Amino acid sequence: MRAWRRREPGSVGLVPTMGFLHEGHLSLVRAARAANHRVAVSIFVNPAQFGPNEDLGRYPRDLERDLALLSGEGVDAVFVPAVEEVYPRGFGTEVMVKGVTEGLEGARRPGHFAGVATVVAKLFNVVEPDRAYFGQKDAQQAVVITRMVADLDFPLGVIVCPIVREADGLALSSRNAYLNPEERRAAPVLYRALSVARELFAGGERGAGTLKNAAMKVLEVEPLATVDYVSVADPETLEEHDAAREGSLVSLAVRIGGTRLIDNVVL
Ligand code: AMP
Repeated sequence: MRAWRRREPGSVGLVPTMGFLHEGHLSLVRAARAANHRVAVSIFVNPAQFGPNEDLGRYPRDLERDLALLSGEGVDAVFVPAVEEVYPRGFGTEVMVKGVTEGLEGARRPGHFAGVATVVAKLFNVVEPDRAYFGQKDAQQAVVITRMVADLDFPLGVIVCPIVREADGLALSSRNAYLNPEERRAAPVLYRALSVARELFAGGERGAGTLKNAAMKVLEVEPLATVDYVSVADPETLEEHDAAREGSLVSLAVRIGGTRLIDNVVL
């Protein structure tokens, strides 16, 4: 990967992924394509960001299909390192971003963002991109990476791209592959709940509690849904708001059957 990078004098855009690619990933690739001389995509299911009871072992993978999709998008390089290559014997460093990792996903998934920040820091050092592309789908992740890049002086720009959704509102996710047909029918309830909060806000409501309750009510109607959290927070600090304002991040995590899904809207 380093040899490839050294041969490329122009700008490089990097899209880090865990593979099993969908239109959300490809939207990042297209954004990278439009703004850089070369585009690199990494595919690495990062064990360090999965908890002991999470889905690392069954995370969906299809490298052949991923490579065909990326080839169709004109991607110049695909980096698919082995786990032992990323974390060789004796590996002992962890990148911990404080202040924006304690709440939301960080509170429910201890160690998750240390795993994310560490692997992304390594990818930045190996690929040396000029720009790196992340999805708003993982809003807290985008905040964490933006913070890390500023704090550690990585010489690159972080670009956050909008959420790509199915026609019924469900945000695209590799984990949607876990949903059985009944669960798939139930899953758009996340976006319906977010939309109700957004509409209330557009109608003048500012109480964060009222917005969250309205979203909760929508979720409670769906018998397959178990709510983990609904949050109204500052989009940069991720501190919970009492009063929502323009730009507030409304985010939620909901279990549909056995599958944990996250989604968000910016007011
Ligand atoms: P993942 O493979 O799930 O780690 O995702 C790789 C990148 O794609 C992350 O920056 C995600 O935020 C982004 N991504 C995943 N799903 C979507 C989506 N539906 N829309 C936009 N970006 C997405």
